[in-house]
Amino acid sequence: MKITDVKVISFKARTRSHPTRWGYGEPGEERDEIQRVLKIETDEGAEGYFTGGNTYFVPPPAEVVEQLVKPLLVGEDPLDREKLWQWMMGHRGVSESVIGAVDCALWDLLGRSAGVSVASLLGGYRDRVKAYASTAPNLGSPEVYAQHAIQCKERGYTAYKVHAYIYWDPVNEEPAPGKPAFAKADVEVCRAVREAVGDDMVLMLDPWGIYTYEEALYVGREIEKLNYYWFEHPMDERKTEPYRKLTEQLDIAILGPEMEPGSLYTRAEWAIQHASDMGRIDTNFGGITGVRKALGFYESIGMQCELHVGGFGNLALLGSTSEETCEYYERGLLRPDEDYDALCPPYLKEPCDPMDENGYVHIPQGPGLGIQFDWDYINANLVDG
Ligand SMILES: [Mg+2]
Repeated sequence: MKITDVKVISFKARTRSHPTRWGYGEPGEERDEIQRVLKIETDEGAEGYFTGGNTYFVPPPAEVVEQLVKPLLVGEDPLDREKLWQWMMGHRGVSESVIGAVDCALWDLLGRSAGVSVASLLGGYRDRVKAYASTAPNLGSPEVYAQHAIQCKERGYTAYKVHAYIYWDPVNEEPAPGKPAFAKADVEVCRAVREAVGDDMVLMLDPWGIYTYEEALYVGREIEKLNYYWFEHPMDERKTEPYRKLTEQLDIAILGPEMEPGSLYTRAEWAIQHASDMGRIDTNFGGITGVRKALGFYESIGMQCELHVGGFGNLALLGSTSEETCEYYERGLLRPDEDYDALCPPYLKEPCDPMDENGYVHIPQGPGLGIQFDWDYINANLVDG
């Protein structure tokens, strides 16, 4: 079998999400945005697809695929995923997120051809995974977070992760550069949430890398007292030495690196340096093939690795791992004024991560990644041919 084409299908899709100055989307008036689906075609008719759904996994623009991906892939056997992965990782012009989208589509192609889920191909382990409610940042006062946490507990979530005040001044309610952060205000949010939900809900904090070392040490000690489970990505991840010190100083599990490029190689370096207690990665860092290797490494040294964000590729990986290595699915970002369960991108027939009343997300059963496209919608909204 040979790859004959790699295409990007671009189309307009209605969304309520708007970009903000502090880097996270916020809901507003409905508008059009450009969405993309990556498609790999073969001479035997087998096809593979990838798209993001509600997540940040947006396939690359057509010109990137045309210039960097197609010359590498056309004429190759799509089943040679390892060879193609090594090739793309070694080809310095292709970013890890582009490799991620292509690799996920190659796994989807194999799954569709075999008529089974990618989770099964990877070595099926479970068909559902515990989810945590991952909040949007800057939701409002500590009381707003506390009420939201109760709402999430009632919905069935057993765990809740706070994104508190990120690039945002909670006193003047306006964008702020991040340093200094609002560490004391963040702790007040964490305390209000713990008091609201009681002791039996698992809680985490993610300040998205904006703390100094001193702020991270202070907040870490405070949320240890509040029995938080992990402290995620508290500082700039380009510097590992502060992470090594923080991991040594605090009892709470430090989780990272989340956003550092380098796929499995960076993860191994951090683990060797004891720069965190729990690992982190997602398919934007080298695709299913890259993440799978990282997970094998983490498993072999007895270190937990929590997958960053949701999405189809991550779900397939979660379906093939035990809770001992990957405990949670990140569901969100959630807001009190938005019903996440009712949010399905208009170009999909089903959202990727339906959750039951006990707080488990059910892993798509395929074939392939289990993406159910609404081709009528996509074809009616095509742009650029
Ligand atoms: Mg994070």
